[in-house]
Amino acid sequence: MGRITLEKVRKAFGEVEVIPPLDLTIEDGEFVVFVGPSGCGKSTLLRLIAGLEDVSGGQISIDGQDATELPPAKRGLAMVFQSYALYPHMSVRKNIAFPLKMAKLDQAEIDRRVNGAAEVLNLTDYIDRRPGQLSGGQRQRVAIGRAIVREPAAFLFDEPLSNLDAALRVGMRLEISELHKRLATTMIYVTHDQVEAMTMADKIVVLQAGVIEQVGSPLELYRNPRNKFVAGFIGSPRMNFVEGPEAAKHDAATIGIRPEHIAVSATEGAWKGKVGVSEHLGSDTFFHVTVDGFGDPLTVRAGGEVDIHYGDTVYLTPDAEHLHRFDKDGMRLA
Ligand code: ADP
Ligand code: MG
Repeated sequence: MGRITLEKVRKAFGEVEVIPPLDLTIEDGEFVVFVGPSGCGKSTLLRLIAGLEDVSGGQISIDGQDATELPPAKRGLAMVFQSYALYPHMSVRKNIAFPLKMAKLDQAEIDRRVNGAAEVLNLTDYIDRRPGQLSGGQRQRVAIGRAIVREPAAFLFDEPLSNLDAALRVGMRLEISELHKRLATTMIYVTHDQVEAMTMADKIVVLQAGVIEQVGSPLELYRNPRNKFVAGFIGSPRMNFVEGPEAAKHDAATIGIRPEHIAVSATEGAWKGKVGVSEHLGSDTFFHVTVDGFGDPLTVRAGGEVDIHYGDTVYLTPDAEHLHRFDKDGMRLA
C-alpha cells in the first residue's frame, strides 16, 4: 500500500517560506510527477515526504498513519538516488543487497529479493560485475534495484535521469514506466522536464514557487490548463500567447493557441504573417511566423513536407475550438 496525503504541509528555511501550506493526495499505485522550474520546491517537497527534511507545519500521512514525525527509515518509502551513489568496489549483487544487509535480513531472504529485483531489471547477467563495468543505464537500474529490494510502499525519484545523455534518458523513461506497470507500486517522480512529466505520469503536480498551480492527468493539463503558467509550461513547443486587440476581440486579456491548432494558408486567413526560420524534424515542421502587431513570433506546426519557405507571406487561422482565454491575472476564462 502507498497512499500518501499531505495536509497544510509547509516548509520554511529560516525566514524564507519555500512551500506555503499545501494539500495533496497521492493514491496507492499512482505514478505522480512533480514538475516545475528549477528552485520551485520539488526536491524540498519530496524530501519532506521522505522525512529527510522536517516540516514547518502540517501533517503527512502514509496509508492512514500519521508519519509527520517518523524518521525516514520508518516510513517504508525508498528514495532512488542517482546511479553515482553506488559503491564502486562492490558487485551489482552486493550493491543491491546492501540495504537488506544493513537491516540484518537473513541470507535466504536477501538472495530471494536480490534475484527477484535483478530479474525485473534485466540485471541477472551482470550480477557479479562492478558498477564501473556497466553502462550508465545499467548503473541506474542497479540504483533502482537497491530500492526495489526494500519492498517500499512508494518509490521516490529526484531527477534520476538528468545525468544521462538524451538517447539513454528516453530509454530509461520507458523502463521506469514499464517497471511501474509491473510493480504497481506508488511512484513519486521529480523533474523539471515537462516531457518526462507528460510521458510518464498518471497524475502531474505543477509547482511554481512552492505553490501547486494544477494537479491533473497529462491530457487534462494539456487541454484545460487552469492558468497561463500551466498553459505555457506543459507542451512542447510551448503555447503561443497573444495579447492586445486580438485578445480583446475574444473578451480576454491574453489568448493562447498551441502550434498544432493553427492552420496555414498561402492565400487567406485571420492573421497575415511572414515566415522566419523553420525547424524540420522529419515528421513535423515548426515555422516561426511574425505577425504585424503581435509580440513574439508565433510557432506553427505543419506536416513534415510542406512548401513554405523563409520570407514567404502566409495567413494563419487559429482553431476556435482550441483557443484558450485568460484574464489579466492569467487565470483561465471559461
Ligand atoms: P527544486 O528541486 O524545484 O529545484 P528545491 O526544493 O531544491 O527546488 O529548492 C526550493 C527553494 O528552497 C530554493 O529557493 C532553494 O534555494 C531553497 N532551499 C532548498 N534547500 C534549502 C536549505 N537547506 N536551506 C535554505 N534554502 C533551501
Ligand atoms: Mg531539485
